Amino acid sequence: MLIGIDDTDSPEGMCTTYLGAVLARSLIREHMQVREARLVRLNPNVTFKTRGNAAVMLDVEGDPDRAFGMACAFVEELADFSCANTNPGVVVVDRQLNPTFYERAVKDFCEIEDAVHILDRAGARYRGWKNRRGLIGATAAVSSRLEDRTSEILVYREPGRFGTPRSVDRASLFAAEAATFPHTWDTVDRVNDVVVCVPHTPDPVLFGIRGESPKWVMAARKLVASEQPGLEQIWVTNQGTDAHLVDGTIGALSEGLSYRVRGIVGGAPETGTGGHVSLLIRDGDHEVRCMAYEPTKNFRQIVRRLVPGDAVIACGSYKKGSINLEKMRVIARASTISTRPPVCTACNKRMTSDGKAKGWKCKKCGARTDAPDVQEIPRTLETGWYEVPPTARRHLAKPLCRGLPE
Ligand code: ATP
Repeated sequence: MLIGIDDTDSPEGMCTTYLGAVLARSLIREHMQVREARLVRLNPNVTFKTRGNAAVMLDVEGDPDRAFGMACAFVEELADFSCANTNPGVVVVDRQLNPTFYERAVKDFCEIEDAVHILDRAGARYRGWKNRRGLIGATAAVSSRLEDRTSEILVYREPGRFGTPRSVDRASLFAAEAATFPHTWDTVDRVNDVVVCVPHTPDPVLFGIRGESPKWVMAARKLVASEQPGLEQIWVTNQGTDAHLVDGTIGALSEGLSYRVRGIVGGAPETGTGGHVSLLIRDGDHEVRCMAYEPTKNFRQIVRRLVPGDAVIACGSYKKGSINLEKMRVIARASTISTRPPVCTACNKRMTSDGKAKGWKCKKCGARTDAPDVQEIPRTLETGWYEVPPTARRHLAKPLCRGLPE
């Protein structure tokens, strides 16, 4: 059977993955076999999300009625019902549902009624609390088919420490990254000297390490020194896979979807208040603004080096009329030339303009020419892919260390 759970946490605490990990252990104690624990991230632009729009799925061998009862009991015990935005959902199905619903949930928006309709048709055991919105994520989790997958080991705190400052040895995190990158990523941000994998929110997660496989995340995890953890779970995930991106065309983008779009830089990049960089890109008569916000740090230097005429692919979510850049490919660079008055070949002095469209004249010897001094300005930006740093990376965004997009 597949058990899907979502929407159990609030900004004040809890985490659906923790509930999933606790449930997995209880199922094992009941002699059920947990074949896979899966963590799926869904559309990052859903406004109801608490943090990273995660839902979980457990693939379990055992009695579905018993498992459903246990999952519901854990939700009742652990979910933060006090929060208006916490609307849990639990689903148990005997086989994976049609992946179309998952695809829509990760790339687009879904309605609660659509999830309920699918669950009724599949004869699923399900329960939704309060407005039942969690049924969307829970249904998406049990319908997920992962074309590409990564791993994350989530190390959870002992319950007595929830809400207190976390103790994870910084140097050991940098050492873990150095020893296992590029097979693990986003443990730390070496360029910006920041720890990325330890949350600052009051949830049960102590730290999480993302990587290509259980073997690699485990190898990195073993190098991390920290307070005594309560529980650990390796999740199969769609994180770092670009599962949210769809190919889009400028002029036909929908609010809240995440795209890969081609365009030509239409104007010089502008840096606004707060250090946010904006860039217009065009496709025919249509244009769209791309944003590299201040938290994207050094990535903004790349965007600032683009010039009108450069051909790019921009990747990111389309929100309020702008694409929030996650990564970008410089496909072809426009040639940048500067035009200056020419130098007189006889006097070796720079000539002066003889009036608009009238060419240039040497003040000393009176020689004239119509040919300006044209110089190619060397570009400092190479073609290729560029990405935001680990501190600014979204869960679903595929890091370039996993291989360049096609
Ligand atoms: P949690 O750890 O509790 O899962 P979270 O940050 O992952 O926290 P949720 O609290 O789950 O966010 O809130 C997201 C809500 O949005 C859930 O109710 C989920 O069912 C719903 N949801 C997820 N994806 C979509 C979508 N594509 N369209 C509409 N609703 C969605």
